[in-house]
Amino acid sequence: MEVICARNELTKPIRRLKKDGKAIALVPTMGALHEGHLSLVEAARRQADAVIVSIFVNPTQFGPNEDFTRYPRDEEADMRLLRESGADLAYLPTVEDMYPPGASTEITVRGISSDLCGAFRPGHFTGVATIVAKLLMQILPDAALFGEKDYQQLLIIRRMALDLDIPVRIEGAPILREADGLAMSSRNRYLTTQERVQAAEMSRILCDSRDALQSGEGAHAVLSRARSELLTAGFASVDYVELRDALTLEAANTGSSRLLAAAHLGTTRLIDNIAVELP
Ligand code: AMP
Repeated sequence: MEVICARNELTKPIRRLKKDGKAIALVPTMGALHEGHLSLVEAARRQADAVIVSIFVNPTQFGPNEDFTRYPRDEEADMRLLRESGADLAYLPTVEDMYPPGASTEITVRGISSDLCGAFRPGHFTGVATIVAKLLMQILPDAALFGEKDYQQLLIIRRMALDLDIPVRIEGAPILREADGLAMSSRNRYLTTQERVQAAEMSRILCDSRDALQSGEGAHAVLSRARSELLTAGFASVDYVELRDALTLEAANTGSSRLLAAAHLGTTRLIDNIAVELP
């Protein structure tokens, strides 16, 4: 596996891959890799000849009081996992590479970015869209893979690629979970032993809520029960539990929908979501 740590070292290997006619798939990450990330690498290998994994803890997608400085960073373990996963190239640009002096351009995907996580993390999705657009322009991959774990992010990136005519297939991949249902996340490392047990309640509550919705119970009752169950389970506060259309994230009444939740456990903000087929 080739490891590239600077923007100006990227051009040559990309040009070589393209000259050799290799289809490229990109998996953007913030590192502190776990099996969820590796499942994206595996899916990428099935779709392309060469897999590039980027690792960049993007400062512009963190709010001023968020966890940018303490976000887990473990380059040695990440490189080992990526080598084992069969990735072809790891790209670890510096902040100066991605935001050269005077950088003044941002990408905001209006509408869909201001709701759900966007309402609680102002500027977050502008940071995400800007950095993903830059990675896509630098690499011009055939496909880029994103986890459904960050469901709103996946739809925002799809919208952006469509709106900006970025010639890439945006692929979603299912959420990988721990044995007790907790969605894998780099931020799970923050959880204390007790919080780790409580955290699994989020996916259980989402599963129960999905079952209730699919058997015809009204959304209002199900969502307010889910919010109070999260608090009872030990979550300190609930940012949202919402039922939305699976493609647009607008209000859902029937058909393919998504139940999405964000809540705080101690100092950790956890998110999760699940597909719901409304009757
Ligand atoms: P992150 O490093 O958290 O920014 O995540 C990088 C990519 O991995 C994003 O597309 C995430 O949605 C995806 N991802 C994170 N956790 C999981 C998971 N548990 N299952 C599947 N994909 C995931």
